[in-house]
Amino acid sequence: MTAPGLLWLSRAFRFGDNPALLAALKEGPLLAVFVLDAATRALGCAPRWRLERALRAFDADLRRRSGQGVLVLEGEAQDVLPDLVRQTGAARVHQAYWPEPAMQAAQGRVRKVLGDRLVLHPGHLLTHPGRLRTGQGGVYRVYSPFARALRALGPDRPVAPAPERITGYSAGPRGLDLTTLNLAPDMYRGRAVLETFALPAGEAAALERLDRFLDQAGPYGAERDRPDLDATSGLSEHLALGEISPRTVWAISSLRAEADPPQAAGITKFLSEVIWREFAWHLLIDFPHMAQTPWRPEWAEFPWQGKSAALTRWQRAETGIALVDAGLREMRVTGRMHNRVRMVVASWLTKHLLTDWRSGLAHFDDSLTDWDPAANAMNWQWVAGCGPDAAPYFRIFNPERQAEQFDPRARYRNRWLAGWPGPPSAEASAYLDSAPPGWSISPHWRGDGADRAMAEGRNRALAAFGAFRADQ
Ligand code: FAD
Repeated sequence: MTAPGLLWLSRAFRFGDNPALLAALKEGPLLAVFVLDAATRALGCAPRWRLERALRAFDADLRRRSGQGVLVLEGEAQDVLPDLVRQTGAARVHQAYWPEPAMQAAQGRVRKVLGDRLVLHPGHLLTHPGRLRTGQGGVYRVYSPFARALRALGPDRPVAPAPERITGYSAGPRGLDLTTLNLAPDMYRGRAVLETFALPAGEAAALERLDRFLDQAGPYGAERDRPDLDATSGLSEHLALGEISPRTVWAISSLRAEADPPQAAGITKFLSEVIWREFAWHLLIDFPHMAQTPWRPEWAEFPWQGKSAALTRWQRAETGIALVDAGLREMRVTGRMHNRVRMVVASWLTKHLLTDWRSGLAHFDDSLTDWDPAANAMNWQWVAGCGPDAAPYFRIFNPERQAEQFDPRARYRNRWLAGWPGPPSAEASAYLDSAPPGWSISPHWRGDGADRAMAEGRNRALAAFGAFRADQ
């Protein structure tokens, strides 16, 4: 039989704008392989759960298009892929470039065996990182000039259309059964609430979501900070898994802004958020240790607290601060949290409780269905004060004021806080059901000590920052 065109799937679970898939197709009938390696098993619970949904959606789509599904093999890529190449006679292995450090390490190991028969393709970013450089030829370290430069240059080459026809490779070895894979049993805690709250996965769902969002993007700029409204795109999961490419988002949105002037301002603002994602990835490529060490090296000596009772209370959504607890409960049950609330929750942990941002980062790594190694690390560092920002550590979010401003009728808080003040909502009940034994799952009330704790925390944070500055 003809040798296959071999596609190593890791992210980029899509057919549109997928140069790796197109390159594989040119070489023969498509054999798409997913390698279930130790790094995948080590992913956080929510990202693993969401990854499986992406894989299943892609598999179903591939079966519809070609009659063949995804081959799932267990092992390490440097063992599994060369074996597969030998068995099938594939000329090359094509992969969509996903410049996450663990994946880059895996690519390096495969390259040691296969050499330049491993071919990486773009598609994860709007533009090649080397293309955006400051006047002095350096890397942009501040968002605004980065965004200006990117808008001026525009994304790389046009979006590649999805292939019209795909011939599948039918002589591949037998792999694991995708229907019984169950990568994340740890996500099914409490009653089966996930299916109720989960957003549909897959490329078609991503395109549909983008389309619906753009139809009413006009108020995005004014409403995007309101967790009580459904004002943002909800595309982050799809972008994180590559079910849609950022260039597709950019191209469709730009066309729509021209065709539908009332939505244009909202769409422009939306694209500036997509550029934040891009900025995060460019930073991660330049600074691969962004999830481990402060982006501003002077912060390495900052006296963050590690494990503590306060951290445990934060992880369990028992801080007594309504907006903070509501956000953490939402994330536990759904794997999602509104951006404004993420900032407040992270600020409470790092600025009021003076807890090491890496503890918060790890909790988010485990809990977010839109987990993105670059966005998560950059944003945690940004909130903690050691990340890329013009005025980093003076910003301390006051959760009470944030709640008044962005959740003015307490609708968001009520949704997630059982008995605060009314009867439990479906969401709050789901949270209560999900809590393991030993957690305080009594209806939420604002703890008596919350005000004092907040004032004390803020004072401690400010004093610490003052001391830090005095040392400079
Ligand atoms: P929209 O408002 O519709 O924005 C459109 C897209 O722009 C998003 O889908 C996302 O891809 C990108 N985007 C928006 N805001 C940001 C941002 N601040 N940084 C980078 N990209 C952004 N986002 C993730 O995708 N994964 C993460 O792991 C993640 N961790 C975060 C941790 C913290 C502490 C904070 C404060 C933010 C984090 N974000 C993360 C960014 C942001 O909260 C989410 O991207 C956003 O809430 C997703 O909702 P949306 O798709 O409706 O966003």
